[in-house]
Amino acid sequence: MAKSNTNETKFERRLLCVVAHPDDETFGSGSTLIKYAAEGASVFTSCATRGDVGEIADRSDATPETLSAVREQEYYDAGKVMGVKKSILYGYRDSGMAGTADNDHPNAYVQVPIDVVVAKVVDTIRELKPQVVFTFDEGGGYGHPDHIHASLATKLAYFAAGDPSYTGSTLAPWKPSKLYYHGFPRSIMKTWFAAFAEADPDSDLAKLDVNEMGVPDELLSTVLDTAPYVDMRRKAIEVHRTQYSPLDRMPTPELADSYLNQDFFIRVDPPVPEGQTGIFEHDLFEGIEE
Ligand SMILES: [Zn+2]
Repeated sequence: MAKSNTNETKFERRLLCVVAHPDDETFGSGSTLIKYAAEGASVFTSCATRGDVGEIADRSDATPETLSAVREQEYYDAGKVMGVKKSILYGYRDSGMAGTADNDHPNAYVQVPIDVVVAKVVDTIRELKPQVVFTFDEGGGYGHPDHIHASLATKLAYFAAGDPSYTGSTLAPWKPSKLYYHGFPRSIMKTWFAAFAEADPDSDLAKLDVNEMGVPDELLSTVLDTAPYVDMRRKAIEVHRTQYSPLDRMPTPELADSYLNQDFFIRVDPPVPEGQTGIFEHDLFEGIEE
């Protein structure tokens, strides 16, 4: 059958984005969510924590006591702006940046055994039946322990969801077709984080190793043109008022453009064909027929 050259399909396309904190879905890959929702796909997000110990931006009225409730609402509101059909929140406690005392809090997300977290994500996949699932890269973008935990849990859940012998969920198996890691190209991240360090040498972000940021550019398999959705992305970023906007901290307009105009991914499953290098896909649903 000839392949349609429009974005219209005869079946419902369903996309699930799995993140760790309210704002990850918007600051990380919001344009991807907006793009597919605008094209008629059913877009879903699941978020592990309420972002309890995040920074509080100057422009916000939130206090450390109200932050988690305010951020939860920001997550739902940003989802509405982006056209997300359902925004799920598991409600674990934010573990904080690597090496902070919050890592050891008994309720911290990173303290939750991986099997327990996997079961939650399997339930979500089996309930929503996405063909495409994506999450953070294995390094969590910039090493955040919650991102790394969510990435591993999502990969394990992706394969368990379609396995009838998996005992962690009572729902009927559903096998998604494709798994991706959303990845910021290291070339962009190096420039960006070096600018953080220069602007505020005492910030947590300044202490991170720029050579470990994002993913090596050569590992990226997939890029989406998200330039048409920049205005809506900016509106969704605005909704996360308790958080410093990534756009406020952009050192140059060129870097802001590279952040907003494209979203990059690593295809995990099906595996990238042997010998295939560089970007070869421009649509997360490429090859999916039903
Ligand atoms: Zn996060």
